[in-house]
Amino acid sequence: MKAMVLTQPAAVDTSPLALSDEPIPEPAGDEVLVEVIACGICRTDLHVVEGELPQKLPKVIPGHQLVGRIVRRGSAAKKYGVGARVGIPWLHRTCGVCEFCTRAKENLCPTALYTGWNVNGGYAEYVVAPEQFVYPIPDTFSALAAAPLLCAGIIGFRALRLAELQSGDTLGIYGFGAAGHVCIQVARHWGIRVVVSTREDKHRKLAAELGAEWVGGAYDDPPVPLNAAIVFAPAGELVPAALKNLKRGGTLVLGGIYMTPIPSFSYDLLYWERKIRSVANNTRQDGFDFLRVASEIPIHTQTQLFPLEQANAALQALKRDGIRGAGVLIVRPDAETQ
Ligand SMILES: [Zn+2]
Ligand SMILES: [Zn+2]
Repeated sequence: MKAMVLTQPAAVDTSPLALSDEPIPEPAGDEVLVEVIACGICRTDLHVVEGELPQKLPKVIPGHQLVGRIVRRGSAAKKYGVGARVGIPWLHRTCGVCEFCTRAKENLCPTALYTGWNVNGGYAEYVVAPEQFVYPIPDTFSALAAAPLLCAGIIGFRALRLAELQSGDTLGIYGFGAAGHVCIQVARHWGIRVVVSTREDKHRKLAAELGAEWVGGAYDDPPVPLNAAIVFAPAGELVPAALKNLKRGGTLVLGGIYMTPIPSFSYDLLYWERKIRSVANNTRQDGFDFLRVASEIPIHTQTQLFPLEQANAALQALKRDGIRGAGVLIVRPDAETQ
């Protein structure tokens, strides 16, 4: 099978992913083999490729937002039939028995495995995953539209849940890429007012089109105080910048797996019971709940498409904030129709 493979993390400008002919993986036990149609790109892929996340395998295929069809099942896989269209997310497998897994916090499992980091992911024609960790894709969405929902979408949704907002509240979104453009649509659907601070002009335009009441530059202060803020950009400087716009008791949610160091700031910014919390992965329940809501709304994903072979170029565009909405790799050229 064709795959884009990482052997040595390096700056994405040096095109560290190499097109390679790899063996098609074999589904064992509870696993299914999925023929990939499309795979979304995510900032986390950039952190894997550039080495901000430590290398886990001598050679890995990145990618953790893929949609495809089941073509073969392991001997214990019974949940989905061959031909079912499914999505494979970041969370590959958890232990099921630790204190987190048994308390509906499997996103915190210390021995979890992650797609495209410590197991191979979707920058390839085929992937295996345990059937309990794949999602059926609602018919509402094409494969191309669904791919960015699987990480950007679910993480944006979990971040919004953790922000604990009510209808009529105001949310500030800092950084407006793939996750932000899905998150705003769910927030508006729930009656939440949204303001967006982001550095690229084309992201500000998209935010306004999707219902932001105000848009400004990355460090511009919104005109109204915020009940909560979500920082999707990986810039630690945004933490004090966002905190200073939070109302008393407000929550600041940090949506990324990696962030540059956070500068020190005055305790005044945090006092009055303001909270800062990160989002770490997601539970399967988040995924099922989000895909239901996404299909009810329905969410419209803005996608910029790249052929699989251009994964390096796609990640380079992501790094310089050059993607409007979400970037998606087309793995099967007839993806439009699937
Ligand atoms: Zn566990
Ligand atoms: Zn991701």
